[in-house]
Amino acid sequence: MRKLVSIQKIKSLEPIKGADAIEKAQVLGWQLVVKKGEFKVGDLCVYCEIDSIMPDKPEFAFLKPRKMRIRTVKLRGQVSQGICFKLSVLPKGIKIAEDLDVTEIMGVEKYEAPIPASLSGIMKGKFPSFIPKTDETRVQILQDLLDKNQGAKCYISEKLDGSSVTYYMKDGEFGVCSRNLEFIEDDENSIWKVARELDLENKLRSLNKNYALQAEIVGESIQKNTLKLRGQTVFFFNVFDIDAYKYLDFDDFTAFLQSLELASVPIIEKEYILENDINKFVEMSIRKSLINPNGWCEGIVIRSHKEQFINNERLSFKAINPKFLLKYDN
Ligand code: ATP
Ligand code: MN
Repeated sequence: MRKLVSIQKIKSLEPIKGADAIEKAQVLGWQLVVKKGEFKVGDLCVYCEIDSIMPDKPEFAFLKPRKMRIRTVKLRGQVSQGICFKLSVLPKGIKIAEDLDVTEIMGVEKYEAPIPASLSGIMKGKFPSFIPKTDETRVQILQDLLDKNQGAKCYISEKLDGSSVTYYMKDGEFGVCSRNLEFIEDDENSIWKVARELDLENKLRSLNKNYALQAEIVGESIQKNTLKLRGQTVFFFNVFDIDAYKYLDFDDFTAFLQSLELASVPIIEKEYILENDINKFVEMSIRKSLINPNGWCEGIVIRSHKEQFINNERLSFKAINPKFLLKYDN
């Protein structure tokens, strides 16, 4: 679960050209606007990330027109992500410590985009426990991971704004799942429809091994279909060897998809040596989509060629395009 609200240090403060009431602050790897003079560098604050839904209390009443949700905004030409409050917004009696997660104590909930009807259906069960669920962490909170992995050979793919799907073959049984559930076949469910169109069950069966394939389903009526696609289809981003409990490395992943004639998410850079610069990743994410060059790409996903686990985490993370958020996330 994302740490939406936590106690964090003001890392830096900088003036904004032409603005005298506000200044630019950095908290974790996030850039945001604060009231001038409200904080000093090194101060602790209560930092609320974008997608926080604040409780309906007088101190957050200014968010009412925005349905209490903290979003990416632009102020005086400066992109601002998140809000810093003084420590005094915390309930009394909390032991202040940097990085402390106060999401629950503050009564903050996470904004979740609604799931379109075509992606739900007759539930077969929960998401299978023998496959990891899909997720990507935002680069803004990954300074430690970058410190440790600078120089690693990575690749960069385009992050698509659809919905996560998982197809698997386990001991002869074919399964179809959304991000959190498994479904029984039905004609209304787009995830099943795409599986049949791509002949996925037979393709997986032909391998005689237990694999899970994870993809983003995109197209009409999914999210805002910002790439204006016709119909619906999937682009794969994970091939998981269920018996070895391991993701395929990039080369094997690519070869696997080629041999089954399945599309991977668009690859922006096949070889990228990991740099230690959060702002640079955000800059890199500001680009048009390789699928539809008229639309903003939602973001990028950077991942190591060789799959590795550090503290049980993959070297894989996302940077979301702030221009995409400003345009569509409202
Ligand atoms: P958050 O945790 O940041 O609030 P979230 O958990 O809803 O948001 P997303 O923003 O949807 O996560 O990002 C993770 C998802 O991105 C993955 O679960 C996957 O479905 C999807 N995705 C789209 N394109 C890619 C890609 N190229 N590589 C990996 N995952 C991708
Ligand atoms: Mn997530």
